[in-house]
Amino acid sequence: MTEKKTKYIVVAGSIMSGLGKGIVTSSIGKILQSKGYKVVPIKFDGYLNVDCGTMNPFRHGEVFVLDDGTEVDMDFGTYERFLNFSISGSSSITGGKLFQKIIEKERNGDFLGRDVQFVPHLTDEIKNRVRAVGKENNADIVMIEVGGTVGDLESGYFLEAMRQFKHEEKEDVLIIQLTYVPSLSPGELKTKPTQHATRLLQSMGIQPDMILCREQEPLNDDAKKKIALYCNVTENAVFDDPTVRTIYELPLTLEKQGIYEVIAEKLNLSKEKTDLTEWRKLVERIVNPKGKTLNVAIVGKYTAVKDAYVSVKEALVHAAAATNNSVEVHWVESHELEKLDDVSKELSKYNAILVPGGFGSRGIEGKILAIEYARKNKIPYLGLCLGLQLMVVEYARNVLGLKDANSTEFNKDTCNPAIMMLPEKKQIVKMGGTLRLGAYDCKLKKGTIAFDAYGKDKISERHRHRYEVNPDYVEQLEKAGLVVSGTHDSGVVELVEWKDSFGVATQAHVELKSRLETPAPLFVEFIKAAAKEKK
Ligand code: GLN
Repeated sequence: MTEKKTKYIVVAGSIMSGLGKGIVTSSIGKILQSKGYKVVPIKFDGYLNVDCGTMNPFRHGEVFVLDDGTEVDMDFGTYERFLNFSISGSSSITGGKLFQKIIEKERNGDFLGRDVQFVPHLTDEIKNRVRAVGKENNADIVMIEVGGTVGDLESGYFLEAMRQFKHEEKEDVLIIQLTYVPSLSPGELKTKPTQHATRLLQSMGIQPDMILCREQEPLNDDAKKKIALYCNVTENAVFDDPTVRTIYELPLTLEKQGIYEVIAEKLNLSKEKTDLTEWRKLVERIVNPKGKTLNVAIVGKYTAVKDAYVSVKEALVHAAAATNNSVEVHWVESHELEKLDDVSKELSKYNAILVPGGFGSRGIEGKILAIEYARKNKIPYLGLCLGLQLMVVEYARNVLGLKDANSTEFNKDTCNPAIMMLPEKKQIVKMGGTLRLGAYDCKLKKGTIAFDAYGKDKISERHRHRYEVNPDYVEQLEKAGLVVSGTHDSGVVELVEWKDSFGVATQAHVELKSRLETPAPLFVEFIKAAAKEKK
């Protein structure tokens, strides 16, 4: 069997950050995937963090977790939501990982007395990793997103590696530059920033093959011609990257402009017609929903920083599309609830309540009040990770009557530690006190919301937490009516439910595996329950 020749598409962003490189990368990947190509993404991040585990989500956005437990940045969530498969940690190539490896090799004497340099040692390390990802995934096309902005010191060595990849090593590499074309007034499009940005890229020895322009209005002929002329690309290789109604619409918008034909031409791909029919149907449901508009409250902390909960928000979009409803998300600051004499003033506005994951004690009591309100008023409730822990605490306090029940994360000295860090020998993670990370199997009990949602008794979902339900409380909780619907092989509780109304919570972050084409089952049931309750 001849080995397949993998092709590479590099997406680099110029001028400024926040142009949506991750969405562009995912959209192009989706188009190629719809043609039958095996596509795998890679993200280059120049920062010196080894992974995103130590990054504050309120500064950098959500920490996304892969099946293998690698903690990566939010863009991986976008890749998976579009491409609909589970990516492995090797696709995340960070400055931290590279330098760690290089220094380890140097200490080992692996460089045989040579001085260790950015070129060739670091750039070789990058190229080897990129090739390995292609091979490991048996990919036809590797989509590489270069984090940061062209010109940043931090991403320079990645771009140099890609230059070598294309020119010295004669790999099939297509370079896509994402830029920004502002309009000073309607019709007055400014291409100069794009021209300068391209010159900067050219000064690094890299000529973009295609240019995508974020913009306030569609490029007119004049703007397209100027960009083509001054940036050394053909006119048909300049594309609009407009503001779309939903991010999932971008593959359709790019496809319509003929982006596939241009890529196929440049990379020598087949010329079949792209088939995004199924995707188009789902997008249509998002932009023109037929069912009810459901008001869902996400009760969290620092809810103004929406990037911290992006997977939760997207999972709601997927579930709404699957059930043909529309969801309006309302961000409720949990510590504000604590100040109200009656939370119903705020919470009676919503058709469903969700408590997402979180760390730290701020706003915890407000979240517990929201859960109590949902239970007593039969408002559909979904709890994710911390949302499960607090559902258990609420039940222990208000149904079992253990008034000081708590998680030891918030009160070390509670007499009723319903949630705790399990003692070493009972821990699922064996490293003492570290996070339980990545995918774990869970068995579901028949006749429960969870079992009906998944339609099977064994599931695998991703985790990122330290605390667990204290096994000493499980029997009492069950006797009092709380349903344990899912457990890990060790017996540790993974899912709980209410009996009298729709309420379900999971220790895993099930939102992380929700994708437009395969929405998270618990979110779908949650939205169905909300639609049913709404008169
Ligand atoms: N803080 C809790 C724990 O560490 C919950 C974490 C989470 O919601 N991701 O277990």
